[in-house]
Amino acid sequence: MNSVSGSDPGRLSDTGLVGAAKHAVQGTLRALHLSLFRRPLPRRVALYFHEIDVATAAVLNEIIPFFKRQGYSFVKAREYDDDANPERRMVFLSFDDNYLGWHEHLPLFAKHGVNVAFYCNSLPLDRASDDPVVADYYRRLGSPADRRPLRSAHLRDMAEAGHDIGCHSHSHFNLAALEAPVLEQELRLNRQMIQNATGMDAPDFSFPFGQPRHLPATVEQRVRSAGFARIAHATSGMLHAPAPRGTIHRSMWRTERNLNANLAELRVDGQWFVRRFGRSPLG
Ligand SMILES: [Zn+2]
Repeated sequence: MNSVSGSDPGRLSDTGLVGAAKHAVQGTLRALHLSLFRRPLPRRVALYFHEIDVATAAVLNEIIPFFKRQGYSFVKAREYDDDANPERRMVFLSFDDNYLGWHEHLPLFAKHGVNVAFYCNSLPLDRASDDPVVADYYRRLGSPADRRPLRSAHLRDMAEAGHDIGCHSHSHFNLAALEAPVLEQELRLNRQMIQNATGMDAPDFSFPFGQPRHLPATVEQRVRSAGFARIAHATSGMLHAPAPRGTIHRSMWRTERNLNANLAELRVDGQWFVRRFGRSPLG
């Protein structure tokens, strides 16, 4: 997901020769950061995933006990952001978009006794899987395996199980490409639909596509003005960066790679690169 196409604010593309060249540069950047900018495992670890497929469930069953053994507590966004105890090791788990598989895996989280955040798009909510709007939504997300949207009753179950249902915008467009009234509609409708479904406030937000260049200062200001308490980014390599209050930096866990490869990424301090280029050095 390296370039934003001008005509469709909801789709990122990365194809052809330019894409191939970018991938080559990306591989070099990754390798450099994995070797030169390596630090100890961060005290605060915020991770994001998307759908929960078999591989993701296996990862969760592995890493939740792993981090517990390392002395980490599993917390929700508010506690993670408050960071009241500077000695405390914390993990914040989160999931973006909208997948029925989230609800189907509630027993997994109950088994481990952890609560997480589900940052949810509301466009597909309560629609059938074969609805063209739903088909287009999942196409824009890169056609994940699970293309079954949640219903309001599922969100209510998830909230009642103790998880946070956060906002992820209504339609999953690149917010930086939207006119102000459309952006405001994307934020307002999303929060309203989630609050209607759960009966609870939804003050947490993660923005689509997750890297800083997709949240310019004017857009961040509009998100803050809409009343969101915390904004979660999805920029790997930022767990060592001091985050201002109300900002959560999350790293992607790559389910196709093993534990040690993922831990190596969490150890990378990529903040200089991210500040300079508005994107993660880890891809
Ligand atoms: Zn997303």
